[in-house]
Order: sequence, then C-alpha cells, then structure tokens
Amino acid sequence: MLIKLVKDTNFNEIEKFIKNIEKKGFEVTKNFNDNIKILIITGNTEKIDTDYIESFDFVESVKRIKEPYKKANRKLHPDDTIIDISGVKIGGGNFLVIAGPCSVESEKQIIRIAKKVKEKGASLLRGGAFKPRTSPYSFQGLGKKAIDYLIKAKKETGLGIVTEIMDKSDLKYFDDIDIIQIGARNMQNFSLLKEVGKTKKPILLKRGLSATYEEWLMAAEYIMREGNENVILCERGIRTFENEIRNNLDISAIPVIKKLSHLPIIIDPSHAAGNYKYVQPLSLAATAAGCDGLIIEVHDNPSCALSDGAQSLTPEKFEETLKKVNKIREAIF
Ligand code: PEP
Ligand code: MN
Repeated sequence: MLIKLVKDTNFNEIEKFIKNIEKKGFEVTKNFNDNIKILIITGNTEKIDTDYIESFDFVESVKRIKEPYKKANRKLHPDDTIIDISGVKIGGGNFLVIAGPCSVESEKQIIRIAKKVKEKGASLLRGGAFKPRTSPYSFQGLGKKAIDYLIKAKKETGLGIVTEIMDKSDLKYFDDIDIIQIGARNMQNFSLLKEVGKTKKPILLKRGLSATYEEWLMAAEYIMREGNENVILCERGIRTFENEIRNNLDISAIPVIKKLSHLPIIIDPSHAAGNYKYVQPLSLAATAAGCDGLIIEVHDNPSCALSDGAQSLTPEKFEETLKKVNKIREAIF
C-alpha cells in the first residue's frame, strides 16, 4: 500500500501513525524527499481499510499495489535504481560490461584473461569458483582456491570480481567479492536468497530456467526484504521447445522488467546462445532493446575451456562485439 502524504505535515503525528501500523504487524518504509513524501506499507495489506487511512489529515492519497512484489516494484520507486559496485555504476543510463571465463581454472588462467578483458573494455571480471553443473562428473570448479585466484586477479588488474555462490555456508569466502551471483538454478533457493539479502553486496540474480517475470521479481523481493536493495537482474535465456540453441534469450524481458521494476537488468547472451557464433548478435539486440549491461563469457583458448568453451568468445571477438555495442549505444541512447 502506497500512502502519499500532504506537503507540510506534522512529523510527530506521522511517527505515531507509523508505530501504530507497525504494532499491527506491518512493515512501513519511508520514502521522503523534498518534493514528495511517501509511506509504503508491506504485509497482508488487504486487512487495512483505505477509508481509515484516508481519514488522517496528513494523508493526500492511498493506493493499493496489486503486485506481490513491493520493494522491487517501480510503482513504489519511480526512478531507476543506480548501483555502485566499488566505483563502477549500473542503472539509470550507466552500462556495465562483465566478462571472463565460465570457470576459474588456475591462477595463471584467470590473471591472464582478466588482463585481456580489461584491455578490451570490460569493467568487471567474472569467473566461476563453485560451479552448478548438470552432471556430477563434470568439472565442479576449484571452490575456495578459485576465490583466492580471483582476488589475485583483482589486485593485478583493479577489476572488481563477480562469482556465483551455491551454498550459504560459503558466504564467509565472499568478503572481497564485488558482486555475488545467484545462478539460474538457485533463483528460488529461498534460504540462500535470504542470506545474501543480509549482506550489503550487489547481487546478480539470474532468471530461473522457466521462471515468470513475477517469480523472478519475487526472488528479488526475498533479497530486498532482508535489507539489501542492490539487486541486478540477469536474463540468461529460458527453456523452450527449441533445440537448436541452448536457451531462448527473452528480449521482451528488458522492456517488461523496466516497466515493472526500477532494478537494473543485464543480459547474458552466452548461456542463452550456448554457441559463440550467436553471442554477438544477441548482445547487439539486447543493447538496442535497452538493457543496462552485459555479462559475456570470454576465454583465450575456448576449445580447451573446462566449462562452456563452445559459448565463449575469444578476447578479440569480445573486443569487436563491444565496439559494435558501443556504436549501438551512441546511435540510440
Ligand atoms: C554461469 O554464469 O556460468 C552459470 C552457470 O550461469 P546460469 O546460472 O545462468 O546457468
Ligand atoms: Mn558458464
């Protein structure tokens, strides 16, 4: 429920009103600036009578928010959220490019690729340490060792680092990580979402393989409800009947999510395509559609990569892709 307050209000009365609402078990968030003062009530607000709320002198208007996501809802936060990731911004017109290998394979490999993606224009480095693999016989990632290698790559290049968490007990290793990724398979791992919600770190929340927009935004809501509003949504392709490509990149997610939510949305063309040949055209399409950034798998020897080599761009192809992405941005935005 969204309550717009009249301009010159008596703050003592409002505080009393808020305490009263909170006593009934609801959460109240204040969104005050010089132009507008809004109270957002969350919880089972159907029980609240809007006529009762409107009877207060300091209330200008009351609106029920029908969507189940509140903190992620653009209706309650009209401006784009801008997230600062150790000095690099995303959202509100700031475009973020994350690049690196699917998996961290060795200290040398990640430092070498980090230098290359930085030189070619990436603003953050990705690399999987804990890998969610379909087969238990596939490479599972180097775990904690890989986190140490990522930190070394960060020290060498100055690039912030992005890596996936699979188990909340590993959170203790993520202190020096700049963005914590929640993978597609964990989008509805609610205990993990709550745990990363207790941190202040930016969270890259991938869309589940068959999640609706509402389910995805509700997953964001789990994180935000714990106090962490630094959520970046990531569309990485969904499952359809098509077998020619790994997943179908849902370009519609960009304008629809932008309408529904104030959170930034980035595109992962690599996991959508499953094939490096499609990564560039999908990146260009996503950029033209208005995404806030890209996360692209880059490997300097894709045929020998321990995971996702087939969809990895070489640093040279990545550079070419970014140049075209920038041309599209200059032409359109
Ligand atoms: C990854 O980023 O390497 C990954 C496993 O992503 P997703 O969760 O989108 O499959
Ligand atoms: Mn991958």
